[in-house]
Amino acid sequence: MIYADNAATTRMSPTVLDAMLTCMKETWGNPSSLYDLGQRAAEVLEDARARIAACIGAQPREITFTSGGSEADNQAIRSAARIGAERGKRHILSTAFEHHAVLHTLEQLGKEGYEIELLPVGEKGTVTVQQVAQAIREDTALVTIMYANNEVGSVLPIPEIGALCRERKVLFHTDAVQAVGHLPVDVRAQKIDMLSLSAHKFHGPKGVGVLYTRQGLPLTSLIQGGAQERGKRAGTENVPGIVGMAAALEEACAHRAENAAKVSALRDKLIAGLGAIPHSALNGDPVDRLPGNVSFCFEGVEGESLLLLLDDKGICASSGSACTSGSLDPSHVLLALGRPHEVAHGSLRLSLSEENSEADVEAILKAVPETVACLRAMSPLWRDKCSGKQAFIL
Ligand SMILES: *Cc1c(COP(=O)(O)O)cnc(C)c1O
Repeated sequence: MIYADNAATTRMSPTVLDAMLTCMKETWGNPSSLYDLGQRAAEVLEDARARIAACIGAQPREITFTSGGSEADNQAIRSAARIGAERGKRHILSTAFEHHAVLHTLEQLGKEGYEIELLPVGEKGTVTVQQVAQAIREDTALVTIMYANNEVGSVLPIPEIGALCRERKVLFHTDAVQAVGHLPVDVRAQKIDMLSLSAHKFHGPKGVGVLYTRQGLPLTSLIQGGAQERGKRAGTENVPGIVGMAAALEEACAHRAENAAKVSALRDKLIAGLGAIPHSALNGDPVDRLPGNVSFCFEGVEGESLLLLLDDKGICASSGSACTSGSLDPSHVLLALGRPHEVAHGSLRLSLSEENSEADVEAILKAVPETVACLRAMSPLWRDKCSGKQAFIL
């Protein structure tokens, strides 16, 4: 099997599994309990907090553990919206191609009286700092812009946007779920007020993440209950998950540069090879791009059919489109990049990690062109395009 869907989730590394198993066997107490077993769990928890903070340039007290990236996004945005509303600010600035954890939270806030403005992301899937500068207003409560896009892989100018927001005294949150462990992230240097990350995107466990919040910013609790996480997130802490996340993040950060060099070389080989397929187009920014992301649209192909046929050949990949979730709408990300519906339906995302090899790339470069040709050969629409009855788009 070739696993090329690391943007969806990653395999836990042996170091992570060991750390979690040890924790589950030895420090399984409740960190809020006063006896020694509980206090040892509390120590393990605080040790993980300090190590995670160090990896992103934060202080331990600025780290709040959550159930993952989605919860961190929800809590960051809700908290910032509330801080803004208390000062009469109800304008929130974001982009059209955020993850649904951000977009759906914003949609809800729109119904609650906030004014949501989504910046267009252009063909390459990015926003410029000038766009953000022009859109910030007196009553802007929050700018929330993702660090890197999960579908098309573009990396946004986050340090520049951070500096701008700090200068204009506007809160800045970034969904850095695709970036942390893969790109150099430093909340202090990059002037980030709030940041979401998720363990399972860097070889940690699923169901655990972090909301970083700059010291002094009050968080709104989404879950009512006990006083865990300084009252910012009720519920007994997922200690083994958090320990696994710390191990995964340390490992990812220690090897970040070498992994990025290896993975981006594989990525570039794939991009060059797949780009040779006629009537295809690379999605996202060709230069400012996540090391592992390869995203293409193939005209005359259904993304879902392509995925299923690739699965038969032992290749795990993903399509940008949301058809699998029961909706026939193509991906909001590809539409935001200006891809027509028809083209957006024919998307393929391969997301690599350092566990992939040259042999994987060669196998993919054999399988994808074959499969695309096979699907096109079966398509009446493709026949019409080839005979000139319909125009090619790409
Ligand atoms: C995966 C992902 C999320 C959601 O994280 P979960 O931990 O799965 O809830 C949010 N944003 C981006 C950009 C992602 O890639």
